[in-house]
Amino acid sequence: MSGILAGKRILITGVLMESSIAFHAAKLAQEQGAEIILTAFPRPTLTERIARKLPEPTKVVELDVTDDEHLGRLEEIVRAELGGLDGVVHSIGFAPQDALGGNFLNTPFESVSTAMHVSAFSLKSLTMACLPLFPHEGGSVVGLTFDAQFAWPQYDWMGPAKAALEATSRYMARDLGKQNIRCNLVSAGPIGSMAAKSIPGFTELADVWNHRSPLEWDMADPEPAGRGIVALLSDWFPKTTGEIIHVDGGVHMMGA
Ligand code: NAD
Repeated sequence: MSGILAGKRILITGVLMESSIAFHAAKLAQEQGAEIILTAFPRPTLTERIARKLPEPTKVVELDVTDDEHLGRLEEIVRAELGGLDGVVHSIGFAPQDALGGNFLNTPFESVSTAMHVSAFSLKSLTMACLPLFPHEGGSVVGLTFDAQFAWPQYDWMGPAKAALEATSRYMARDLGKQNIRCNLVSAGPIGSMAAKSIPGFTELADVWNHRSPLEWDMADPEPAGRGIVALLSDWFPKTTGEIIHVDGGVHMMGA
């Protein structure tokens, strides 16, 4: 099979619906020649149903990224299926309802802690669970952020969680560089996925793109973010690590 991911074995988290950024990364990865394995949360049945819409059949493994037992058995399952891994996609984000939608000043630490654990610390725990599967030549880890430089309307504690994710990615890049493992993030513009719809007032947040995006932005199209992920998984960014690639229509660099 030809394509920029020919011969690569990739683990992809975060496929929940067809609107999931990870679904498009999975589809494009297969089209580009990769063999993939998907992880599922909360129920494998949901992900299995969506996985049937991919070009090739793929195994689905249950994974709650905060569950050490799930993380502990990942290596064996992936090794049996693919023999090893050349790439990992972290497409996971969650914050409890009281951490979103204008409640920033009153959110209890317990909810902040959950948001940080699922959305930021998990980049480290997922990568470490997969580390023994990478070959000597190394590989690529790619995560998804929403620009943490700014205080967005309604995004609340997901903002600090994304800031933590961005910093975590840089430290991962620092510590895994010796093993030739790159760690980068795609900073995506707003997309109407499940995660987005669970943010009360998401339309207000997304409206910024109607006014400030130099390139036309389509909230219903997760494919551009998927393309960014696939590019970072490929050998076409061989010396790029600790980087954040914006796939946001250009909003990140616009003045008011
Ligand atoms: P999505 O709802 O399709 O995906 C979020 C995924 O997180 C789901 O598949 C869910 O199963 C997974 N998840 C939640 N808790 C988990 C846990 N404990 N263990 C394992 N998986 C868990 O939404 P999406 O928009 O495709 O989100 C994917 C990533 O992209 C997230 O990191 C999100 O923050 C980021 N992102 C989204 C947007 C957007 O506007 N939708 C913009 C920038 C970045």
